[in-house]
Amino acid sequence: MASVQHNSRNTDHGTRHGADTRTGAEARTDSADARTGAAARRDLAVRAAVAQGLVSEAEPVVALLDVAGIRLSAAALRAAFDEVTAPGTPVLHAFAVKATALVPVLRLLDEERIGAEVASPGELALARAAGIPAGRTVLDSPAKTTAELRQAIALGIAVNADNPQELDRIDALVGRGPVASPFGLRVNPQIGGGAIGALSTATATSKFGVALRDEGARAWVVQAYLDRPWLTRLHTHSGSQGLPLELMARGVREVHGLAEEINAAAGRRQIDTIDIGGGLPVNFASDEVTPTYAEYARLLKDTVPGLLDGRYGLVTEFGRSLLAKHGTVLARVEYAKSAGGRPIAVTHAGSQIAARTVYNPASWPLRIAAYDAEGRPKPGPDVAQDIAGPACFAGDLLAENRPLPLLEQGDLVAALDTGAYYFTNHYAYNSLVRPGVQGFTVLPQHGGAEPGGAVRFMTVRASQTADEIVGESGGAYADALLRGASGA
Ligand SMILES: *Cc1c(COP(=O)(O)O)cnc(C)c1O
Repeated sequence: MASVQHNSRNTDHGTRHGADTRTGAEARTDSADARTGAAARRDLAVRAAVAQGLVSEAEPVVALLDVAGIRLSAAALRAAFDEVTAPGTPVLHAFAVKATALVPVLRLLDEERIGAEVASPGELALARAAGIPAGRTVLDSPAKTTAELRQAIALGIAVNADNPQELDRIDALVGRGPVASPFGLRVNPQIGGGAIGALSTATATSKFGVALRDEGARAWVVQAYLDRPWLTRLHTHSGSQGLPLELMARGVREVHGLAEEINAAAGRRQIDTIDIGGGLPVNFASDEVTPTYAEYARLLKDTVPGLLDGRYGLVTEFGRSLLAKHGTVLARVEYAKSAGGRPIAVTHAGSQIAARTVYNPASWPLRIAAYDAEGRPKPGPDVAQDIAGPACFAGDLLAENRPLPLLEQGDLVAALDTGAYYFTNHYAYNSLVRPGVQGFTVLPQHGGAEPGGAVRFMTVRASQTADEIVGESGGAYADALLRGASGA
């Protein structure tokens, strides 16, 4: 339990809401406040990105991250669980690193007292580079090697085992002496899938965790805990995007029931922490944040009151819902053309930054905003058009037949809500560079400012260079396949 951060209600949480804590009059007189909406901040950032040369001939696509928005989401997450948990309940919110695998983002979240959920040696390295303490790091992965387990134990980070064979490996490592890591077991309550099959992890045949409803599985799990006094956590994650909240809550209820059963069988509170995973869906249709963390937390309170009464510590692992709405990809329209009567804007944002949308547009539609060459919202009547990417395959479309003001050469398009699982999950087709990422904050307005001067940008990641692509593509071994190159 020591490794879980404590609920600090009545300390500094209530003061971090910015606009929420002000009176209406204060809000109306504060010109900065009029711009606190995510859409207003985004428009300012786009204008400023053009004015400050962040999108250019050399870098025709850039990703923007709204720092204020990220902080607001982190505060909303903390507040939602503070609201429903008994005072003093240990709660660790661990950000699923795969959603936005950027060191400065992890560090920002750390400052917001959000830890890291990692699922590979690379993600663990990122969390460590960001300075996330071991006590706020959780390792989940269905394919941990013995070396990974050994490293996690040496660091003292929490580990959720996925299956019986992994538990056997941990048995061998734990047998060697005292260990600081808390250990859990991931179970699959088999509550069923959501709207997106590839992201539903609680189906009958999901590859994740111990399938709880399989014959004999529940009894096996109970015995596994009785045999291992050091197994003190229980973990589930029912899926990402497309799952109804009710289904997620039902999965958590199943897992809480199992924890109660194990503790009863053990005759002590062996399981002291339940890790409920992440998976809060994101609204990709508008700027509205829905569902909210508060709604989910209240639903958990109604569905599983025993989870939140202070007898269990909590771990959450949200990813998409913390970052998605705070990212924007801004790309130049290189050419505007037409084919078969369909206008097509050929841009620099395609499959390399939006692989899921390009390959599965029905499940992952993205909002696109049109801006003129100066970065001002583009006026004009809607015309159905395709927003194409730069890659050399026909399906490389961010949006098909989308009504937008008719885009012209030199205009800009913005792919919205792309802060999670998009530009940070680069797809290397055509050796297109990973775009640079800029964090931004809107400064308080001062009279007569240059257009775009009211936004400060901070480099989060530089654009990949052609030299780096050569290096990552065997550049150092150019002769490797030539006759005689093997030496002998
Ligand atoms: C991906 C993942 C998460 C995060 O899911 P989101 O839908 O991004 O909130 C949390 N836990 C585990 C184990 C995951 O694999």
